[in-house]
Amino acid sequence: MNKLYNRSYFFDQGIHFECQLCGLCCMGEPGIVYVTENEVAKIAKYLSKQVSSFIETYLLPFKVGYRIKEHADGRCFFYKNECVIYPVRPRQCATFPFWFENIRSPKKWRRVADECPGIGRGPLYSKEKILKIINSTIEYVVKNT
Ligand code: SF4
Repeated sequence: MNKLYNRSYFFDQGIHFECQLCGLCCMGEPGIVYVTENEVAKIAKYLSKQVSSFIETYLLPFKVGYRIKEHADGRCFFYKNECVIYPVRPRQCATFPFWFENIRSPKKWRRVADECPGIGRGPLYSKEKILKIINSTIEYVVKNT
């Protein structure tokens, strides 16, 4: 663990980020947004839906949980001019753009930064905070998939 924190990264000075709620990451290229059983219960409650009908309408089975359905153009089923489940969105969405696959190289990060207008704005995420998010996400994936 210390090894992870003690080495140098391109984000040693931290990265500013604040979601602009533009929805660009909720549309476009198809992708998989994983939803755990716990998240299902939370989101269904938030939308005041029965869990079974919520699953049938919005989700598809995936691994040991579910994935969110997408429209033919790649738009997330929960995106209707804005994310309609934003306060209870799945962890995968809540931790974007600080995903291991995005942060693993400056080149990858530049590509993400080109598409996400929230990067470079808002509060500073320190190197430690970013690594903590990534680490907890890896643990979460191991536990839930
Ligand atoms: S692309 Fe970036 S700014 Fe836009 S909704 Fe996604 S995270 Fe927020």
